[in-house]
Amino acid sequence: MSQDMVTLTIGKQKRIALIAHDNKKQELIAWCKANRECLGKHFLCGTGTTARMIAEQTGLPVRGYSSGPLGGDQQIGAKIVEGQVDFVIFFSDPLTAQPHDPDVKALLRIALVYDIPIANNRATADFLITSRYMGEEYEHPVMNFQKNVEERARQKSF
Ligand code: PGA
Repeated sequence: MSQDMVTLTIGKQKRIALIAHDNKKQELIAWCKANRECLGKHFLCGTGTTARMIAEQTGLPVRGYSSGPLGGDQQIGAKIVEGQVDFVIFFSDPLTAQPHDPDVKALLRIALVYDIPIANNRATADFLITSRYMGEEYEHPVMNFQKNVEERARQKSF
């Protein structure tokens, strides 16, 4: 593989972020209940309200960040950058304007940058969670960001 790319590994135990807009929270909680056994094998985190509701209603341990509108989506984006989150289930509401829409877009973008599996609705989440990769390591090529930074810093110094 060219050194423009590096291989990242999503481990057997995924670090899954769970997020749902208000109108989608019950749907995500029901999905978590239906997939409780599988989710219990992975590390879970989520935006504040979503994390708390899932933890309370399923008994699964879910690390909570700030609430989405207060920066929680940005925190999860930062965790993707740091390699601490490698899988996202985000049930977003397509019919209601969100005050933190720019944060939501930023999270979706950073998930693309790092080639993170991300489900935005139940059907996609069902396909992801039944994938054989849920129980295996998954290697994928991602841009070599270190090289990219070095090259761009060199160009800008001339
Ligand atoms: P919440 O945030 O879990 O704190 O409600 C979710 C969101 O709206 O992004």
